[in-house]
Amino acid sequence: MTARIIDGKAIAAELRGRVADASHRLARDRSLVPGLAVVLVGSNPASEVYVGSKTKMAVGSGMRSFDHRLPDTVSEVELLALVGRLNTDPVVHGILVQLPLPAHIDAQKIVAAIDPRKDVDGFSPTNAGMLTTGLPALVPCTPLGCLMLAKTVVPSIEGLEAVVIGRSNIVGKPLVQLLLAENATVTVAHSKTRDLPDVCRRADLLFAAVGRPEMVRGHWIKPGATVIDVGVNRVLGADGKNRILGDVAFAEARQVAGAITPVPGGVGPMTIACLLANTVRAACALAGLPPPNFERQKAEDWARE
Ligand code: NDP
Repeated sequence: MTARIIDGKAIAAELRGRVADASHRLARDRSLVPGLAVVLVGSNPASEVYVGSKTKMAVGSGMRSFDHRLPDTVSEVELLALVGRLNTDPVVHGILVQLPLPAHIDAQKIVAAIDPRKDVDGFSPTNAGMLTTGLPALVPCTPLGCLMLAKTVVPSIEGLEAVVIGRSNIVGKPLVQLLLAENATVTVAHSKTRDLPDVCRRADLLFAAVGRPEMVRGHWIKPGATVIDVGVNRVLGADGKNRILGDVAFAEARQVAGAITPVPGGVGPMTIACLLANTVRAACALAGLPPPNFERQKAEDWARE
């Protein structure tokens, strides 16, 4: 068997199109232009790239983008003050503080200071708690993208065995909550899990969010399973050039899996598209409008409501 490749780039482009439609309609019908504020501290090259893409795509989707670039000498108090100003700024509907932050700043304190209604990364304790308790929340973008990609192959995952490798607050844990909400039977694996290959072989849906290049091998995968690879690992190739590898040994896995996401071109593009979708959701919620459900409805249907 050769797995179907889940084209995250194309699926994300389609989602961005729906987000842009919704955004343009809000501007036209409600004079509401969704605004995303991105805060970047210091000059981490990877963060610069992410922030650049987020800004460009926000503008390309009809939103306003507000960039705040601060030196890595900025104090926690100054950063908290900026977050406070963005919280009360009526043209800002989404606030994203790019992580990681310099060591002298308590990232949890900063994230917790973001108004939960504007927390488009979904990392605040309030949104994490709301997701866990089944209340409407802004959901972290990467897990949301993973679920959407999986559902392009398996629209109903009820009753299926899902294995998530990784239990971080930004990927693994929220993904588990989303899968539980879809009535999957969920196993969470981590660095202390015994017999990880055996655990993985149970999975109808396997999500790898580890940060170890090609750790998941072909023989760990149940034949026909759907494999979503979250990992982004920069590895120096024999030719001296940097390559980006996932957490799954792609060439082996695609011989066994039913469907698989590539790296790059899988989960990564969905993360940004989901961020834009969250910004529109936040703008609607702040304006007292019903938040669009980009997963199940077309923007046109929503706009008619
Ligand atoms: P973290 O480092 O926060 O978490 C990694 C998780 O993997 C931990 O739960 C850890 O277990 C587990 N783990 C580590 N080693 C093993 C092992 N040998 N066996 C089983 N589990 C293991 O990473 P993130 O969740 O932030 O990110 C995971 C990956 O996803 C990274 O490659 C990251 O770059 C990528 N990523 C990609 C995004 C995208 O948009 N495409 C966005 C966010 C992340 P334990 O808890 O026991 O330590």
